[in-house]
Amino acid sequence: MLIVQKFGGTSVGDVERIQNVANRVSASVEEGHQVVVVVSAMGGETNKLVAYAESFTPNPVKEEMDMLLSSGERVTASLLSIALNAMGHKATSMSGRRAGIVTDAVHTKARIESIDAKAMKDALGEGSIVIVAGFQGVNSQGKVTTLGRGGSDLSAVAVAGALNADLCEIYTDVDGIYTTDPRIEPKAKKMNKISYDEMLELASLGAKVLQNRSVELAKKLNVNLVTRSSFSYAEGTLITKEENIMEQPLVSGIALDKKQSRISLEGVMDRPGIASDIFSALAEKDVNIDMIIQTSGHDGSTSMDFTVSGDELTDAKKVIDGFVANNEVQKASYDENICKVSIVGVGMKSHTGVAAKAFCTMANENINILMISTSEIKVSMVIEEKYAELAVRALHGAYELDK
Ligand code: ADP
Ligand code: ASP
Ligand code: MG
Repeated sequence: MLIVQKFGGTSVGDVERIQNVANRVSASVEEGHQVVVVVSAMGGETNKLVAYAESFTPNPVKEEMDMLLSSGERVTASLLSIALNAMGHKATSMSGRRAGIVTDAVHTKARIESIDAKAMKDALGEGSIVIVAGFQGVNSQGKVTTLGRGGSDLSAVAVAGALNADLCEIYTDVDGIYTTDPRIEPKAKKMNKISYDEMLELASLGAKVLQNRSVELAKKLNVNLVTRSSFSYAEGTLITKEENIMEQPLVSGIALDKKQSRISLEGVMDRPGIASDIFSALAEKDVNIDMIIQTSGHDGSTSMDFTVSGDELTDAKKVIDGFVANNEVQKASYDENICKVSIVGVGMKSHTGVAAKAFCTMANENINILMISTSEIKVSMVIEEKYAELAVRALHGAYELDK
């Protein structure tokens, strides 16, 4: 089999752990598999580099952030190769550039456009273990780009797709996908399987165990994706097509996103095209908008509330300030002390009362819901951040996910 194995930050957190990864990769090779490894930076390293940059300015030049942050993954890729070579294996490490990963030019959250897998295939053909530095690529001008936080998951899935690998294993510090973050609810249960769509919702709604774009790509390319622990041999969780899962629970999991901020606009000029103007301007700055609420207008003005991811708040503020300066918006306020809790499950499609139970659970805990949004397979609620963990545990119990 050709297997892509991705090891996250905790799994390569120090030299002993890199040796542990080398041993596991070595075991797969001895079993007769061809292995391509994708690595993250050592745990905490990316945050450390971000903090260095932010000691100069809260808004470091994004191109330089990519040069800086991509270095973390190159360190672990080369160290792992050194370890494997020292064990007598043939191994070669590759930066995103050498691995042929070409992205668009959106620095710090670039999208992969294509992969020229020749160098990886040649190295595999020569009997080498290939080790790819995750989280990075180059744009068409040859500048280094990174793929957004958690982006090594995306590198692994994209490489698995480009090489037509039989399996893509994501090794992390938990032994699979749980009904909710086990750090918040110790009663959370590991799932043996989960559908791409549910995993995509959980990841998009804050379960950082997998980067959401990696799940989206895995679904598109039909990559066999497994999440498991690098510290045990327990079987992981298979992320697969919905039809491969026999019994669908009503609700599969609860996600929490603490990195959300709410932007409230008051006195928004109530004219055709105003929403388009505001949200187009935000899109142009690559700000992703999540929930939007517009109340019914009166006296020629209306109000709008929406949420953005915390790291995009600075960019969003700049755009909104422009509308305030033009008098198209009277007042803008920003609230970072909110969070979003969501329940996810494909079973919701065919059952009623799922959302009502979520609202009732919040009411019983005396938690005020600030915003609500729903889709076919999820219900999300924005609440005050101080109730985050309480809400997750209450919902986990209410849907009997601990049973
Ligand atoms: P890595 O560094 O290996 O990429 P991450 O820290 O990105 O690992 O993701 C693993 C973490 O995701 C776990 O330690 C866990 O706390 C968190 N997590 C959040 N939601 C879930 C979930 N539903 N199932 C499992 N882990 C989850
Ligand atoms: N090192 C990067 C991060 O911390 C990418 C990754 O680990 O997936 O976001
Ligand atoms: Mg991760």
